[in-house]
Amino acid sequence: MLKHLGQTRDTNSQAENWFRTTKNIVLKNKLHRRPGDFIQTMHQFISGRMRGVRVTEIRQKVMEEKELEEIDKPLSQEEQWRKKKTKRKKSKYYNPPKAQIIKKASYTSPPWSGHGKLGQRFITMTNTCTIDNLLYIMYLAMKTRPFILSEIEQMKMKDSWMNTLLEVYQHFSVGQWSQGKISWLKNLDRFQGKDLWDAFGSEGDYVVCRLDYIHHNERLSVCDARKCPFPELSKLCWSVAVLCNDFSDLQQSINNWVADNHSLPCRKKWRNGRVCRGRRTYTARKFVHGVPPFVIMAIDATVTCDGHPEMQPPMLPSSVLLCDERQESPF
Ligand SMILES: [Zn+2]
Repeated sequence: MLKHLGQTRDTNSQAENWFRTTKNIVLKNKLHRRPGDFIQTMHQFISGRMRGVRVTEIRQKVMEEKELEEIDKPLSQEEQWRKKKTKRKKSKYYNPPKAQIIKKASYTSPPWSGHGKLGQRFITMTNTCTIDNLLYIMYLAMKTRPFILSEIEQMKMKDSWMNTLLEVYQHFSVGQWSQGKISWLKNLDRFQGKDLWDAFGSEGDYVVCRLDYIHHNERLSVCDARKCPFPELSKLCWSVAVLCNDFSDLQQSINNWVADNHSLPCRKKWRNGRVCRGRRTYTARKFVHGVPPFVIMAIDATVTCDGHPEMQPPMLPSSVLLCDERQESPF
């Protein structure tokens, strides 16, 4: 058949494969059929196969474009140039569609783990549950409440983590979930020079304690003794942690945390060993940099959620007052 084109073999692998597929898969080795039955079976198979190819191609194209945008799109620039795509070489042989061709779905929230770029370095992240939820909640808060975003913008010159939070926001806004996470984690010394970033640990370590600029609060303790070695002391705290066993009392628990109006024996020592017999009273807490636009509040409880309906998340009030300023629940 092909001898006049200089090919000496009588058939080729494409034809061989197709006849094998027809015999084994399409006709299921039932070879004695009526012509009508043969045509119907072949028609069904071929139109199904064509549909599969079309759907796969369209999806593949969409996914590739999305992925390119995700990695290569710069955060802010006036003109945007997309990388020239090299055409994917198509297989000449018959291959049934494989599930793994579909690379990944597009997400509306940060997926677990991720890949991305830091300069020229390719980064793979794993165990990112320590940052996924909190970064996403903060992103949603900034997105839905513009005053939070503008207050964070005002703080970016004063605190590097607030600046980082804006970077996360910009990436998340365009669906660059992995790049957003990389911009947060890149500040941690433990990942310097590494390609695999394992974020296993606690949310307190990876996120909450990095927000000490907004959480930073101070209270004074004043001694009532006429002569005390430390008449006035300042106590600093870098978190907002309240004790609450019933969410319907959350506002009261927060008020107690802010007021913190308790007193106790001073017992501060002079150099000569004499102990002060005065009473030391604490004043209300104040946020060092003003009441923050948002806080991540740690709620300590002596009971668990199980068997305590008053501690189930739906019982959280929609908003609370913190130092006379309203804070809304993110949910
Ligand atoms: Zn004292």
